[in-house]
Amino acid sequence: MKKTLLAAGLAVVALALALLHTFAAAPLPAPAPLDAALPPASPPDDMAVFQLPTGVTHRSAAFAYRGGAFGDQRDFAMAAVLVRHPRGDLLIDTGLGRGIETQLDLMPFWFRAATPYTRARPAADQLAAAGYDRARLHAILLTHAHWDHSSGLPDFPGTPVWVTADERRFVADGGWITAIARSADARYEEYAFDGGPYLGFPASHDVYGDGSIVVVPAPGHTPGSVIIFLTLPSGIRYALVGDLVWQREGISQREERPWLQRTLADRDPAAVRDNILRMAAIAARFPDIIIVPAHDARGFAEMPTLPPAP
Ligand SMILES: [Zn+2]
Ligand SMILES: [Zn+2]
Repeated sequence: MKKTLLAAGLAVVALALALLHTFAAAPLPAPAPLDAALPPASPPDDMAVFQLPTGVTHRSAAFAYRGGAFGDQRDFAMAAVLVRHPRGDLLIDTGLGRGIETQLDLMPFWFRAATPYTRARPAADQLAAAGYDRARLHAILLTHAHWDHSSGLPDFPGTPVWVTADERRFVADGGWITAIARSADARYEEYAFDGGPYLGFPASHDVYGDGSIVVVPAPGHTPGSVIIFLTLPSGIRYALVGDLVWQREGISQREERPWLQRTLADRDPAAVRDNILRMAAIAARFPDIIIVPAHDARGFAEMPTLPPAP
């Protein structure tokens, strides 16, 4: 009896150690240097980009990437980004919308229990408070259709929601993880990667043909995840990488999510790794490009907030 108990105890300890090890640092091998010029862009003078913070989830660095510390508490940003462009404004993701509390009822109990969050003002209300003319909003462009990116869709009824064909299929058949996007009754419209390679990504979609807003495929986290490159008239460039990584160290230290998180959150962890390495190569060659993971407050800190109503 004693021996059996001892063996069971040792097995539990071994399992716990094995699980703990999946949180340890394990940098991906450095990618080959990127041999590409900075793509040309001629953004119009009145193009601008603003962050719309809609809340936070309370996490730690260990939750986000291998090698992150459990004691390194981080509030993950939940935000939308407004891109002002004379051809039509875009909202990139929506953050947490007005209906987030009831929407979360669509998610499993364990998910709600494991997702402590604090709401801020929804993007639609921030735009209204700033006196924003909704007629300017041309479309919502999703980095991917997870709950925290699509929660605000019902706050923009009638606005087209741009997704890739793969992501639209994922919305339709993704199970609980896309239940909120599915429930939004949104006007989904598909776009294709009709442009050539871009900074090491195999294809691209240049939204207005001026190089200011360029979308590239970055599948893995979800089947139709994308990365959006923005180039401002000032020459400042952003890479909105969605949930390819949750914190910048995922790219700067080439650390994927820990096993538990990538098993729960990523459709194709190998594809995520490929895209982390593509972004790491871009960061090495063009360190001035501001990398903004969808949940890293440090990325959004480098983006202005919406000015108040005049
Ligand atoms: Zn996600
Ligand atoms: Zn997310």
